[in-house]
Amino acid sequence: MPEQLADGVYAIEAQFEDVPMQVYVIVGDSVAVIDPGVVTTPEHQLAAGLKELGLSLAQVDTVLVTHGHHDHFGGNGVMKAHNPNLRVLAHAHDAAWIQDVDRYLAESLGPLAPYWTPPAAHTDRIRRLCGDTVAVDEVLEHGQTIDLGRGHRLHVEHIPGHTDGHVAFFHERGKVLFTGDALQGHGTPLLRRPDFYPNYSSVTDYERSLDYFAACGAEIVGTAHANVCTAHRGAQIIADSRIHLAGVQDFLAARLREAGRLTRPEAVAAVLEAWPRYRMGPNVVRSVGAQLDNLVTVGSARRHDEPSAIYEWIA
Ligand SMILES: [Zn+2]
Repeated sequence: MPEQLADGVYAIEAQFEDVPMQVYVIVGDSVAVIDPGVVTTPEHQLAAGLKELGLSLAQVDTVLVTHGHHDHFGGNGVMKAHNPNLRVLAHAHDAAWIQDVDRYLAESLGPLAPYWTPPAAHTDRIRRLCGDTVAVDEVLEHGQTIDLGRGHRLHVEHIPGHTDGHVAFFHERGKVLFTGDALQGHGTPLLRRPDFYPNYSSVTDYERSLDYFAACGAEIVGTAHANVCTAHRGAQIIADSRIHLAGVQDFLAARLREAGRLTRPEAVAAVLEAWPRYRMGPNVVRSVGAQLDNLVTVGSARRHDEPSAIYEWIA
């Protein structure tokens, strides 16, 4: 049964594989879905939840995509097949990924190539979960309001960090915040594997999204992978996110001070050894790179780029 978060605002449980996930539905004059999940989500979970609300997939006319990751846009093609008049809305910076899986894989994993090569099973799985991609019909701008009718107005906040085009939505009347993947705490808990490491390409951008979440006045926080939270629980996850950032930053600073120089793979290996709850993968390689770059930003380190990134302690 969908969980009601506010009048006309619902969460539907949509776990896929061993990844917990929530999909959100807003019923105004438009019927909107926030992040329709992976290719199986619409027909496997969303349809059943909508049915409980007296609705069908064909009645969903708006898809709001928080960001261009496969578990957030992979259901778009199936949604569009059920309603050819469906509009897909996303931020310009992630639209290219949402519309083109090859480009998504090339641009999200390509920069990691010197440090981590995805096994074929990794990219095959992502392609499978994406299904058919469809065009983004409308580009979302920071600060705009989406009016779904019957008093359902969503403020759009551009919060890069997890991806360049990540947006959060704030339901003004219900004071419900939809964070997508930008509220990460100590990572995404999985049911049968080590947790996903928090995934961000810029520490300062990630901190800015946390600042927004803390200040937006949300009474209910709808995350993608960490359930629906009270404001109190949301504040705890914001605090956990900051503890994660500071903990890794202090650890890497100490390592670098001690060693003098560190390559990015050495830094990743050290983090994985210190935090065995995580495993090797794109998230930890990307985020540790962001942490090392942040040590450069704050003046503690210098980065040498040839042949690949080496960081030198200078503070
Ligand atoms: Zn994501």
